[in-house]
Amino acid sequence: LPPFDPTDPLGIDDLLDPEDLAIRETVRSWAADRVLPHIADWYEKGDLPGIRDLARELGSIGALGMSLEGYGCAGASSVQYGLACLELEAADSGIRSLVSVQGSLAMYAIHRFGSEEQKQRWLPGMAAGEIIGCFGLTEPDHGSDPASMRTFAKKDGTDWVLTGRKMWITNGSVAGVAVVWAHTDDGIRGFVVPTETPGFSAPEIKHKWSLRASVTSELVMDEVRLPADAVLPEVTGLKGPLSCLSHARYGIVWGAMGAARSSFETAVEYSKTREQFGRPIGGFQLTQAKLADMAVELHKGILLAHHLGRRLDAGRLRPEQVSFGKLNNVREAIEICRTSRTILGANGISLEYPVMRHATNLESVLTYEGTVEMHQLVLGKALTGLDAFR
Ligand code: FAD
Repeated sequence: LPPFDPTDPLGIDDLLDPEDLAIRETVRSWAADRVLPHIADWYEKGDLPGIRDLARELGSIGALGMSLEGYGCAGASSVQYGLACLELEAADSGIRSLVSVQGSLAMYAIHRFGSEEQKQRWLPGMAAGEIIGCFGLTEPDHGSDPASMRTFAKKDGTDWVLTGRKMWITNGSVAGVAVVWAHTDDGIRGFVVPTETPGFSAPEIKHKWSLRASVTSELVMDEVRLPADAVLPEVTGLKGPLSCLSHARYGIVWGAMGAARSSFETAVEYSKTREQFGRPIGGFQLTQAKLADMAVELHKGILLAHHLGRRLDAGRLRPEQVSFGKLNNVREAIEICRTSRTILGANGISLEYPVMRHATNLESVLTYEGTVEMHQLVLGKALTGLDAFR
C-alpha cells in the first residue's frame, strides 16, 4: 500500500496526470512568489497595488480564460482550471476573484456569445492580461433577482444608448472593458462596453471588510452611446449571464477549498508546536477531533470539485450540480477557517496568520455568484419540482 499522505489523505492526486500536476505547480509557485509575501500588507491597506502587473503575469502563466479555446487562451481542461483556482485562492480569494471574473465571466461571455469581430478584438488582450475585464449584472436594488434589473439599453438609429447603475463589480475601476447586462425592448442583452466610452464611470467601493485585496466598484452608465455591434449577438435573456455565472461558480467550488486548505494547514502546524499544559495542543483529543473533521470536509470538498470538473470536461455538468458544489464547498470552507481560527487561539485573529483573512474573504464568496439561499432554492426546486423563488 502507498504510505498515508497527510496532505492528500484520500490519494486524490492519483486522479491527476503529469500535465495537471505541472500546471498546479506553476500556479502554486507563482502565488508563493508574487502574492504570499505581500498579501497581508495589501489586505491591511485594502489595496491591490500592481494589479495590472499581476494580471499580465497571470496571463503569461496561462491563467486567464484558461479553459477557453483559441484567441490566445490556454485551452486547458476544466480540472486544470479548477486546480489553478484552488492554488490562487489558497493565496487569497481576491486574487482568485480577479482571475474568475476575467476568465469565467468577462472572457467567457465574449467567447460564448460574442461575434467573431468581438472575439478577435478583445480576447487575445484579455488572455494576455493586457486588458482587464469586468462583468456587470448586480445593481444596487437587484442582486439575487437580476431579472428585475433597471439598467436599460434603447435603440437610437443603429446605436444603443445604455443607462443604469451596477454595484459590487469586481475589477470595475481597473477594467478596460465591461460586459454589462441590460434590459432592451427584446429582453435582457449583454453589451461589450469599452470603459473609456463617454458617460461610463466606475468609482471604487471602499470600506469593505472582506475581499480587501480586490478591486470592487460601482458602474455608472449615463447615456453611454454604443455602436450597433456592441451587443453580444448570440444570446437574449437571463440564460446569458446565468451560464457565465455557472462557469465562474464551478471555479469557486475549487477555489473555496484552497482558502480552506491554507487555513487547515496553518492549524495543523500550529497545533504541533503550540504547547499548553505542558504538551502540544495537537495532542489533545478535542483538537484532534477538530483536525480530523476538518480534514474530512476539506478532502470531500476537493473530491467533489474533481467530480464536477470531470463532468464539465465530459460536457455533462448541470447547473444544479454546480449549485450543489458551490453550496457545499463554500459553506464548509468557511467552517474550516473558523475552526482553524479557534485552534490558533488569539493568534487566530492576527494578520500574521492567513486564517482570519480567508474567513472574512469567504463571507463575500458565500454571497457572490449566488447566495447560500439561492443555491438551496435551486436544489430545492430540482428535488421537488416546486419553485420557491417567489
Ligand atoms: P440580496 O439579493 O438583497 O439578498 C439578501 C439576502 O436575502 C441574502 O441572504 C439572500 O439569499 C436572501 N434572499 C433573497 N431572495 C430570497 C428568496 N427568494 N428566498 C430566500 N432568501 C432570499 N456582482 C456582479 O454582477 N459582478 C461582480 O463582479 C460582482 N462581484 C462582487 C464582489 C463582492 C466582493 C461582492 C460582495 C459581491 C459581488 N457581486 C458582483 C454581487 C453579488 O453577486 C451579489 O451581492 C449577490 O448576488 C447577492 O445580491 P445582494 O447583495 O443584492 O443580496
